[in-house]
Amino acid sequence: MSDEIDSGLSFDNSYAEQLVGFYTSNQGDKAPAPSIIAFNQSLARSLGLDLDKLSQRQLAAILSGGTHIKGATPLAQVYAGHQFGIFSPQLGDGRSILLAEVLDDSGLRRDIHLKGSGRTAYSRSGDGKAGIGPVLREYLMAEAMQQLNVPTTRALSVVSTGEKIQRHKPLAGAVLARVASSHVRVGTFEYFADRGQTDQVKQLADYVINRHFPQSSLSPLTQSHCYLQLLSEVCKSQAALVSKWMNLGFVHGVMNTDNMSICGETIDYGPCAFIDSYDPKALFSSIDSQGRYRYNNQAPAALWNLARLGETLLPLIGTQAKQTIEQAFNVSNDFSANYRQQWLERMRRKLAIYNEESEDLALALTLMNSFQLNYQKFWLDGVRSKLGLSNAEPEDKKLADDLLEIMAAQKVDYTRLFRALAQAVTGLQGPATDLFSHPLVFEQWLQRWSDRRERDPQTPVARAAAMNLVNPIYIPRNHLVEQAIKAAEEQADYGPFEKLQRVLNQPFTEREGLEEYAAAAGDASARYTTYCGT
Ligand code: AMP
Ligand code: MG
Repeated sequence: MSDEIDSGLSFDNSYAEQLVGFYTSNQGDKAPAPSIIAFNQSLARSLGLDLDKLSQRQLAAILSGGTHIKGATPLAQVYAGHQFGIFSPQLGDGRSILLAEVLDDSGLRRDIHLKGSGRTAYSRSGDGKAGIGPVLREYLMAEAMQQLNVPTTRALSVVSTGEKIQRHKPLAGAVLARVASSHVRVGTFEYFADRGQTDQVKQLADYVINRHFPQSSLSPLTQSHCYLQLLSEVCKSQAALVSKWMNLGFVHGVMNTDNMSICGETIDYGPCAFIDSYDPKALFSSIDSQGRYRYNNQAPAALWNLARLGETLLPLIGTQAKQTIEQAFNVSNDFSANYRQQWLERMRRKLAIYNEESEDLALALTLMNSFQLNYQKFWLDGVRSKLGLSNAEPEDKKLADDLLEIMAAQKVDYTRLFRALAQAVTGLQGPATDLFSHPLVFEQWLQRWSDRRERDPQTPVARAAAMNLVNPIYIPRNHLVEQAIKAAEEQADYGPFEKLQRVLNQPFTEREGLEEYAAAAGDASARYTTYCGT
């Protein structure tokens, strides 16, 4: 093809090849005047992009859509989703496409995906476009999360398209290229389950097991009930993810099932934000009037979503469980009826099928066990690290909970306080106590924490260093993100965005001259509101 570009990448498009019927081909729209605003060099290199071979013009064309790229099979994925608890039977990539898949330099399969590239079969009444503000926001947030060691989709580039899009006012259009371990969502399973297409649910589950959880199909124990194992693995990775959000004070804001990635990465940065002053009920999104996805509802919301995933897998899990039980039953054919019954009960318990009649109950118990237990463990492990504790004691949860309660009562800045605790370890308590309007109650807590540290063998210097590796000094503070976006939107000035991005690239390393990036917003009490990135 004459206008085809050779990106130099070797694509391996497993979704396009193995899941025909799960998408619609779509190349995206050609942008009138694509221009690269942000580009993630190190990520590009890890994907194998040969930057010496491609001109800026070619790169901008590739990263904004509408271009024939050698070996790519661009497509829009179909999915459904529960949005704020209400089921939408068909959503899908309405303003994005999966451009292609590559194996990166560590052999991991990565999706390259464009967001804002134009209408698709799933756009409904939307225009398929994205504005520069939300796109820069996703770039900043996703890359910050990556540096904060949270599983996340990555941001590869932002290209301004050269066209205006209509929102509450005309905005500059842009396309985000993002990279993910995959874009399969809970909602992808829901789409096929809702239509009674169990074969497709199985096809998708097998694909996901092969792509993300190959160990679960290898284990001899789980081979016979790999779908139950798949559910349990997804529960575990979500527990790990949400516990990290909670430890960092991150509020995703729109945890609909279509925004929950099956591989446990944070995805779809819309109305997300970090807490400034600590408030367990922190809520930023303009559209979440009930507070369904507020800060301290995130673990229950994740569990609710996982129950929806479990429902889609029930026909597969049920069949497997029954088969396994029957196999066991056949082996024991000559046993007395009574003994057989006992054996059956034992098998059911082993398989977490507590009551064959009530598969919902069995499912709920399985989920509860793997999600709730894992979540609490991961969260507490995270808090222990934040408090510089390397060993575990039963009273640690109470110690952490009490600190959070004092912080909430006095509206203390979450990030600053944890960072200041490392200074307290090496004898400098002022930076921490100064954050409290009534320090007495905090000082009592400091004493308890100091007593606890006596039973944890680490030198103060080593403890403080370890704490500074998990308690960031720089996070994407709401007012900084807003400033960067405003300059870009209103003056096409990308300087503040670039500076903030550089600061957030090393969130744990304090650097001179960056004090304003570590400071709380001027008016911390002002309620910050975020909007969905449409
Ligand atoms: P989100 O809230 O970003 O997760 O999007 C929810 C659904 O709306 C997804 O199916 C999106 O693809 C779709 N959507 C959001 N914005 C647009 C738009 N501007 N045009 C078309 N579809 C959109
Ligand atoms: Mg979404």
